[in-house]
Amino acid sequence: MTGKRGYVVTVDGPSAAGKGTLARRLATHFGFRFLDTGALYRGVGLSVLRQGLDPADETAAAAAARALQPEILSDPALRTEETSAAASKVAAIPAVRAAILNWQRDFARDAARSSGGAVLDGRDIGTVVCPDADAKLFITASAEARAGRRVKELQARGETAIYARVLQDMQERDARDQGRSISPTKPATDALIIDTSDLTADQVFERALAFIATKMKA
Ligand code: C5P
Repeated sequence: MTGKRGYVVTVDGPSAAGKGTLARRLATHFGFRFLDTGALYRGVGLSVLRQGLDPADETAAAAAARALQPEILSDPALRTEETSAAASKVAAIPAVRAAILNWQRDFARDAARSSGGAVLDGRDIGTVVCPDADAKLFITASAEARAGRRVKELQARGETAIYARVLQDMQERDARDQGRSISPTKPATDALIIDTSDLTADQVFERALAFIATKMKA
């Protein structure tokens, strides 16, 4: 890692594997800026739904991606299961990904310059968005462990959640995210893969820190 231009850390992986928790914690620890790139796809999905259109409609989704307003990124509806499904549909559309790509790269470059570093979490950050990142992590867990966590999260928010339904939605979303031809969810060849199924958040954080430390020394 060259300290001069700042550090870029990427945290990729499927939903509910713990990447958001880890990425935020790493950003706080190092004083780096954080970007949840999934929120951008969620924002596009939500804005298509709000227009009463189909998230799989390429023209509608591409127009929504180009017109994405930052305000929608803090909308509480961003986190519903309906928006999750819409996000993974718009994310398979090349014109949507193209509209969002430069936005993400600009963020990483500006944050590295102005704040010493950036942590970005997503699906394709280490492979496509920031292939030259200094440290790449891929955070995964079994579908059952991830569905169990998602159920707890939804219940904590006062929503009813049925495990079997959540698991099925998650498997459908995984299949779309991993099977798409453009930017599928997959680890970069130089990423550290951490399976969090049987680890605590603290253990994941410690492993990630140890890995990043080796990269910072390099
Ligand atoms: O991470 P999160 O669950 O918020 O992401 C929502 C959806 O956005 C994912 O299911 C995925 O389809 C898409 N996504 C993506 N590339 C990213 C981040 C998210 O395709 N870098």
